[in-house]
Amino acid sequence: MIKVAINGYGTIGKRVADAVAAQPDMEVIGVSKTSVSAEAYIAKERGFPLYIADIEKRESFEKAGIPVAGDVEEMIKKADIVVDATPGGVGAKNRPIYELYKKKAIFQGGEDADVAEISFNAHANYKEAIGKQSARVVSCNTTGLVRVIHALDQAFGVEKVRAVMVRRGGDPNDIKRGPIDAIVLNPVTIPSHHGPDVRTVLPHINIVTLAMIVPTTFMHMHTVQADLKKETTRDAVLEVFRSHNRIGLVTKATKITSNAQLREYTQDLGRPRTDLWENGVFEDSVSVLDGKEFYCFQAIHQEADVIPENIDAIRALMGTVNDPDESIRMTNEALGFVA
Ligand code: NAD
Repeated sequence: MIKVAINGYGTIGKRVADAVAAQPDMEVIGVSKTSVSAEAYIAKERGFPLYIADIEKRESFEKAGIPVAGDVEEMIKKADIVVDATPGGVGAKNRPIYELYKKKAIFQGGEDADVAEISFNAHANYKEAIGKQSARVVSCNTTGLVRVIHALDQAFGVEKVRAVMVRRGGDPNDIKRGPIDAIVLNPVTIPSHHGPDVRTVLPHINIVTLAMIVPTTFMHMHTVQADLKKETTRDAVLEVFRSHNRIGLVTKATKITSNAQLREYTQDLGRPRTDLWENGVFEDSVSVLDGKEFYCFQAIHQEADVIPENIDAIRALMGTVNDPDESIRMTNEALGFVA
């Protein structure tokens, strides 16, 4: 069993912890919090040993009825690998302690690419990550883009990509973010950082991205346009997407044409926390014009799509499964993906 510590039990960390606990070859040896919060109670409820960043706060946790297993350093010492899910920029500050104890570490997309030896996506570069000391799972938007671009590139070759990201204003629990009533160009300059971030995983791809933020909390919506190298058809592209185990086609028959309906759908499916781990590519939007011009809309659940990628990154760094398809299959099966 791979012993996994999750440093930072927030939006991403709590999902990674549940996903690790669901795997047959991994166990959660601890999660960490900085202060008493609802999530600290959840960690207790789940039975995850809770470690805290500042041990002087032990009393405030214990007064609140939350047992403390120790400080973060103790947690790191017990782990084979640490998933750092602290807020963007904190991961880089934590890196020295992982290095000190010679622990493998996985960072998140809020960190700069140079925080780790490799920027990771399971379908695109799992094999390159095998045995490495550290990896950065690219952000939710980048993960969504990489999945689609890599699949198209493998099947038809990609000449260039142009994509627009309509981003959620904040996560559902984030009471401090907005906008409440605006469409914010973010950034107003072109390109946005997402294109260069895609190139940290797929360096050969010519890509330009634009981004804006809107008042919604559940999912980003992408428009993706790609010029393909080989002529193809809409049906052939749909076939590629159908056979991809982290791209879900939102079919015409469901009549779903928005993030709101997709949320209802994941809720009705009984997905934990309404998580959509796959890219939600709208079947009706998939178009190929003049044989080589590809278009689609895709919904990307910001809190969820990176979770299975973290699980595969654990196996890759640990070197316990060398076949990417096998790791992806194990992860999907344990999480309960619906085909
Ligand atoms: P979050 O604020 O929800 O959670 C961060 C957690 O880390 C909190 O529980 C906080 O208490 C804890 N923490 C803060 N400082 C700490 C420290 N020094 N030591 C230990 N724990 C500490 O953040 P999040 O949204 O889960 O984001 C985490 C990372 O994942 C960021 O890099 C972010 O860019 C990336 N990411 C976030 C999303 C998203 O939609 N929220 C999507 C993809 C990637």
